[in-house]
Amino acid sequence: MAQRDISPAKPSKHPFPADLPQQYLRALIENLDSAVVLCDPKGRILLFNRAMAVACASGTTASWERTEDDPESGDLRVGVDVSRISGCLRNPDGSRLVQGELPLSKALRGERIRDHEIHLGPDGRRPRTYRVHGEAVCNETGRTVGALLTLQDITERRLAARFGDCELAVSEALTVSAPVDEAGTAVLAAVGTRLSWPYGELWLADEVEEMLYPAARWVAPGHQPSDPMPDRLPRGEGLPGEVWAMSAPRWYADVAAPGVHPSLAATASRFGLRSAVAVPIRTPEQFIGVLTFFGATVEEPESSLLALLSGVAAHVGQFLSRRRADDLALELTRTRDDFLALVGHELRTPLTSIVSHTELLLTDGELSGENRLLLESVDRNANALRAIVTDLLDLAGLESGDISLDLGPVDLSEIVSASTAALAPVAEANDVKIQVDAPRVLSLRGDPVRLRQLADELIANAVKYSPDGGDVGVRLEREGDLAALTVTDGGLGIPEDERPRVFQRFFRSSAGTARGISGTGLGLPLARAIVERHGGTIQVQHANPGTSMTVSLPLDGPGSSPGK
Ligand code: ADP
Repeated sequence: MAQRDISPAKPSKHPFPADLPQQYLRALIENLDSAVVLCDPKGRILLFNRAMAVACASGTTASWERTEDDPESGDLRVGVDVSRISGCLRNPDGSRLVQGELPLSKALRGERIRDHEIHLGPDGRRPRTYRVHGEAVCNETGRTVGALLTLQDITERRLAARFGDCELAVSEALTVSAPVDEAGTAVLAAVGTRLSWPYGELWLADEVEEMLYPAARWVAPGHQPSDPMPDRLPRGEGLPGEVWAMSAPRWYADVAAPGVHPSLAATASRFGLRSAVAVPIRTPEQFIGVLTFFGATVEEPESSLLALLSGVAAHVGQFLSRRRADDLALELTRTRDDFLALVGHELRTPLTSIVSHTELLLTDGELSGENRLLLESVDRNANALRAIVTDLLDLAGLESGDISLDLGPVDLSEIVSASTAALAPVAEANDVKIQVDAPRVLSLRGDPVRLRQLADELIANAVKYSPDGGDVGVRLEREGDLAALTVTDGGLGIPEDERPRVFQRFFRSSAGTARGISGTGLGLPLARAIVERHGGTIQVQHANPGTSMTVSLPLDGPGSSPGK
């Protein structure tokens, strides 16, 4: 901030050789990185160095303060164009500095300027940012004999800060689970606002059709593009199409310059835009789209800006490919569910009819010998098939919510003992002992049919995957507001690398299939669906040998979805 301080600057403590030849001073000043300008008490430029000439840009060696009443004052160096340079000075908000606000004028008035920030650059070009120090120069008697200004180019530092800010804003825009067009617009706004590009577009590619489609557009407040985005662009056409075809960023410093594609120049000039930059969005595997920005000024390519944009594009690419994968997975699940429902319904009706007819035929006492055996086999297999179809339909219905739970007070102890009793013959046939440890009554709110199905699945698996003569433990207990059911066996176990897939549909462990144990891979997904619909959790613990399944169910039933 500029400070008002009219006391003369303190003399340096270091000795200054009074007889230092002028060439040394000139060489010193001329070679400083900081721009330096000195003026006399009337504001006439006495001296400015090379860095100052560069700051004033476009090769103009110029004094940049000359009062109207002294037209000769700017002629100290060649090529002076005072009005042009003064007109290039801007406040950080972009507004022009008026005569009285010029830093040298302020310094002459005795104001001590420290860390003042100005923007400097010719019209139509992106200005550079300078930190300005300045003060009056006084003689021994304290009389002002001129003023001194130094300017340090801090454009890169400011840009780096804006880059960080921009990257953060882009990350935020991409973490929200917004639709692609919303997230795209947020990214364009994040970049456009921070890098002062008033117009941006996001294009997404359809690689099969070789076509780009508009996905998002952002226009800075105060800018009004007149044309809508084209509804498609073939690969190679327009700036985005060119980027796709070349698979590399493109930067047009001045779209009005000769050689620029006429359609790009025409579009940009209609919007009052001068520069254009576009970067490809891609993952290592595929091309995804293009990010395009337009600037209101002529702007030379900057490698740091391109690097930033490429980083943003990579971020957008990851977001879009993740989104595509999610959409695809959702679509696949829908398709699979539709398929299962279709097949299930189509199979269930004929199977029901086969089962009822075979059962009817089997009641015929005259049926004997091989015919009876054949019919019993048809009946058995039709029943097995019907059980699979029922499991498939139950699973799809429970997962999608199409099947409602019939909730009411249930005694889980009773359900567990009924299930154990029903499985006792199978267990006995394999010499497997089932030990039950349960309270006399354990009431909770649930669907009795589904909870029985759950108990059957877990206990049947424990029996099925136990070796002959093995033990199965069924423990039921109350733990606070939960009922905990644990089914433990000392059987096959599940190979370590296959454990993450244990609740996936149709998963069958290699240990089970290698021993020829039959199954469908539907029981555990079904068990999990039932548990989750009751608001509970199911977990697997792996022992050596054996497996243990623990189900926790809230005694009050599924809190948030009553009736389901
Ligand atoms: P399945 O009809 O094949 O038993 P499940 O969905 O019930 O289908 O189980 C999926 C797979 O998980 C089984 O094929 C089996 O490999 C494994 N599995 C389930 N429970 C046990 C268990 N208690 N012990 C060992 N493996 C089990």
